[in-house]
Amino acid sequence: MIQSIIYKDEINSFPHIKEKVNERLVKIINHEIGHTLNLLNCPVKDCLMEDGGGTIKTVDSENGKLCASSTKKVLKYLVKP
Ligand SMILES: [Zn+2]
Repeated sequence: MIQSIIYKDEINSFPHIKEKVNERLVKIINHEIGHTLNLLNCPVKDCLMEDGGGTIKTVDSENGKLCASSTKKVLKYLVKP
């Protein structure tokens, strides 16, 4: 996935593309951090943990936040009784 979000020619030709690439990187890194916290890919559209399905369009459509279900799961993992 990381390779598919970085278009070297785009970055060199259009500096404003850097912001989009940075946004994608942040979303993907946060998604992967979610996996380290025991979150699986989520079926909820636009959830940060939604499976990219091999296309950057999914990453672009995500809002960068966890859905209610994923939030509940990660809080359960992080908060000790
Ligand atoms: Zn979710």
